[in-house]
Amino acid sequence: MTQRLEQKDAFVQSCRAEIVEVRNCGDRWALVLNQSVFYPESGGQLGDRGTLRVHEAELEVVDTQIDDGRVLHLVKDCTGVGAGDVCEAVIDWGFRRDQMSQHTGQHMLSADVFSLFGAETVSARLGSTASTIDLDCEPLEPNALQDLQALVNEQVMNDKAVRAHYPDKAQLDQYGLRRSSKVDTNIRLIEIEGIDVTPCGGTHCAATGQVGPVMIIANQRYKGGSRITFLAGRRALDRYETRDSQIHAAADLFKCAPDELHEAILRQQAELRKVQERVGAYRAKLLDVEVAEELSRVQGTSHVLIRPEFEPEEARRFSRQLQEQSGASVLVAYGQDRFIADSASVDLARWLKQRGGMFGLRGGGRGSHVEGMISEPITPEWLKNLADALL
Ligand SMILES: [Zn+2]
Repeated sequence: MTQRLEQKDAFVQSCRAEIVEVRNCGDRWALVLNQSVFYPESGGQLGDRGTLRVHEAELEVVDTQIDDGRVLHLVKDCTGVGAGDVCEAVIDWGFRRDQMSQHTGQHMLSADVFSLFGAETVSARLGSTASTIDLDCEPLEPNALQDLQALVNEQVMNDKAVRAHYPDKAQLDQYGLRRSSKVDTNIRLIEIEGIDVTPCGGTHCAATGQVGPVMIIANQRYKGGSRITFLAGRRALDRYETRDSQIHAAADLFKCAPDELHEAILRQQAELRKVQERVGAYRAKLLDVEVAEELSRVQGTSHVLIRPEFEPEEARRFSRQLQEQSGASVLVAYGQDRFIADSASVDLARWLKQRGGMFGLRGGGRGSHVEGMISEPITPEWLKNLADALL
């Protein structure tokens, strides 16, 4: 057994310890100490990282796991180190402190989502960039999420104490637990004063104020229930700072103050709609002129042309008008790889089925009008052969 110092005090960052066992675990080595401040991965909280200082060497602990009460400090190399050596075990405090914020924030969110909406937490995971809570309910409405976030941040600002209790099984009833304990012995309860009491073996802040801001960043359907993704502490602050600078950059583009950004966007959208309407009207007039110009180039009973700049609706009107005014079968290749064709004399749907493949044309439509995609490169030869084939 390793004596778990982090269970009594999550703020102890280092300890002296004796190496009692060295195990080979494939490409890593596991060092077991008689006592440790390293938290081993469990209950959704990641295992600690840090260093073991032995003699003159500094071994980097890349992960911490647990095996039957023994805390395994995983290192990539431990040459010259063996059982009986004494070391200084030092955790990566930045990493752990961050996990403590996420973990305490998770307890508060789970308690609040239960008190506000009666939703139970099915599981929780504290990731290295974002953390998740899986609930037994439908995704929450946006205003419900806002209420939840507001409540948890209010509790952060109220700076309530977080304490661990070690009751025996008979004493459990008096605590009013949010969920029951999975173990019968060595029970450890985490109480967040006035907010929550739940069994947990993880590391937590000493008061809710240490959690820092809590930000819910996503809520979606997940495995028959829903999943909340959140950031706490430094992570949330970083996200707010990034958003703030993005809002300032956007406000600079709109030449307005950040607080006026919403109004400025609405104004510009309205202006854009007006411009689009005017451009549409001019475009329709211009299309009539272009059809008249193209009409002079139509020779014979079929006409194929390319207009990469056309939008679908323009191509449709152009093709139909040119067909009606010239009487010829018309095919317009437009955009990157699209076509539209109209004819009064050829059953284009049947023609496309029987001969379209020879020209890389795929699509469909009714008899006198078809649309689709072009998969062959458009060359002068392709245009000429296609016009001949449409006769
Ligand atoms: Zn916990």
